[in-house]
Amino acid sequence: MIVITRINKNHLFLKTIPVANAGCPLCNARGKMEMTFYQLQLEAGWVRDTKKITASVCCKNCGRDVPVVRWDKELDTFFKAEKKKIKVNTSFKAGKIGKILIWLNILFFGAIFLLFTGMFIYHRIAPKQTAGTGASRDEQIRQSGLFAASPQPGDLILVYLFDDHKQILLKITAVDATADVVKAIASDKNIDVPANAADVPAADADFKQGKETSFSLTDYKNLRVTAPDHKRLGNVQMVYRK
Ligand SMILES: [Zn+2]
Repeated sequence: MIVITRINKNHLFLKTIPVANAGCPLCNARGKMEMTFYQLQLEAGWVRDTKKITASVCCKNCGRDVPVVRWDKELDTFFKAEKKKIKVNTSFKAGKIGKILIWLNILFFGAIFLLFTGMFIYHRIAPKQTAGTGASRDEQIRQSGLFAASPQPGDLILVYLFDDHKQILLKITAVDATADVVKAIASDKNIDVPANAADVPAADADFKQGKETSFSLTDYKNLRVTAPDHKRLGNVQMVYRK
């Protein structure tokens, strides 16, 4: 939240000293200049005494304040030299409103911190949650990649078909590395992505004669299902091995 109210600048009087032999830029009288030093204080619900030192110059001859823009080199040099000699105490005091604002800020940013920590922890834990009794989805996908890299007869493949916009389940019946072909048989059951191999609703009776198909072995290893002419037919969603 951080609420910034208007900040007041106060100039705390430190001391007034004569500026020996300096001439007045306004009336040219010499030896009549006095410089007054102040410490800058900032105030806004809290009070902060800063290190910053300011000064004003007054001429006792013409009685006028010499604005900073009219200071000559002599006044500038004198100011810089004197400023270095002055030691000021810096401090910070939170007033009643300031304390309330500080606490509100702590609560506000603390709540944001907790929220982000919570989200971070949640996202670290969430993928580890398992669906049913099986492995996590990330683990399944990793395993599918391994299974696809070395296909075996009996592997169940869940394929998303681009043209039909639907998922089908295939069962590998033969792998012919020489011909670069995987032979499979399709099930006509409509299934969603199951949590693990045991949950795949596939009995031998689901894979009927006449539903045989084949696709490229090389492409299958990259989780793609292609026709013999390598036309993309679909993507491998998941591979199950019982
Ligand atoms: Zn003067």
